[in-house]
Amino acid sequence: KAKENGRNTFQFYASEMTQHALERMAMKTSLKEAIEKEELVVHYQPQMDAKSERMIGLEALVRWQHPSRGLLHPDKFIALAEETGLIIDIDRWVMKTAMKEVSHWHKEGLIPDVLALNLSIKQLEGHNFLKEINECLTAFDFKPQWLELEIPEGQVMKNHKDSIQKLQTLNKMGISISIDDFGTGYSSLSLLKRLPINRLKIDRSFIKDIPADEEDMAIVKAIIALADSLKLNIIAEGVETEEQKAFLLANGCTYMQGYYYSRPISSELMRKFLQKKAC
Ligand code: C2E
Ligand code: MG
Ligand code: MG
Ligand code: MG
Repeated sequence: KAKENGRNTFQFYASEMTQHALERMAMKTSLKEAIEKEELVVHYQPQMDAKSERMIGLEALVRWQHPSRGLLHPDKFIALAEETGLIIDIDRWVMKTAMKEVSHWHKEGLIPDVLALNLSIKQLEGHNFLKEINECLTAFDFKPQWLELEIPEGQVMKNHKDSIQKLQTLNKMGISISIDDFGTGYSSLSLLKRLPINRLKIDRSFIKDIPADEEDMAIVKAIIALADSLKLNIIAEGVETEEQKAFLLANGCTYMQGYYYSRPISSELMRKFLQKKAC
C-alpha cells in the first residue's frame, strides 16, 4: 500500500513538473514572439528632487501587453528572459524605444531630463553593446548626458574586467552609471571604488518600513553616509509616504522615486505630464 502511494506521489510530481515545463516552454515561445509582435511597452516613472519638487529624470520600465493575460509586469517574465538570454533582445528593444520616445519629447521642447534604462549584465557583456548604444545615440540625436544606465547590485559582482572597461568607456562618453537595488547585493566596497559609478539607488525594501523599522532607518543612513564619502549621488526607490520623504530629506537624500510622486505611467501620460510641466 505504502509503495503504491509512493508511486502515485511520484506520478503526481512528475505530471506537475511536466505541466510546469510545458508552461515555461509556451511562455518562452510567446515572449520571443512578443518582441516581433510589438507586444512590449515602455512605461516611465519620474525621478524627483524632493527639495525643489522638480523632476530630474525618468526611468523606463518594460511591460508586456499579453494577448490573454493582460498587462504583465517584469516580475512575471524578466527572470525567464534572463535565463533564456531573451533579455538581450528585450533590453535592446527598450533602449531603442525609450530613446526614440524621449528624443521626440526633446524635439517638442519638453525636457524630461535624464532617461534611466535598466541594463542586464548580459546586455553589457554582449559584443555589440557599445556599437548598439552609439547607433541609438546617433539615430535619435541623443546626447550621452541624457542617458543613465542602471545595473542591479546583485549583477555587479559577476562583473568581469571586460564589463568594467565597457562601463568606463560609457562613463567617459558622458553616460551616467547607477547601481540599482543597492543594499541587497553584497557588493564589496573595493569593487564600488573601482567601478565608474555616479549614483547608488537605495533598494525599496529598506524604505518600505520607515518609520516603523529602526534597523532599516539605520541602514538607509549608513548607505547615505557611504555615498557621501565615496562622492556618489544617491536616490531612494519606493518612496510612498510623506514620512519616508521627510526622513530621507532630514538625512540628506533629496532624490526620490516612488508612488508618493507617481507610479510608472504610459508614454502618452508622461508626454502630457511633461507638457504641463513646460507651461
Ligand atoms: P527596478 O529597476 O528597481 O525598478 C523599480 C521597481 O519598483 C519598478 O517595478 C517600479 O514599478 C517599482 N516601484 C517604483 N516605485 C514604487 C513604490 O513606491 N512602491 C512599490 N511597491 N514599488 C515601486 P517594475 O516596473 O515591476 O520592475 C521590476 C524590476 O524589473 C525593475 O526593478 C528592474 O530590475 C526590472 N526591469 C524593468 N524594466 C526592465 C528592462 O527594460 N530591462 C531590464 N533588464 N530589467 C528591467
Ligand atoms: Mg511592478
Ligand atoms: Mg531600475
Ligand atoms: Mg531597484
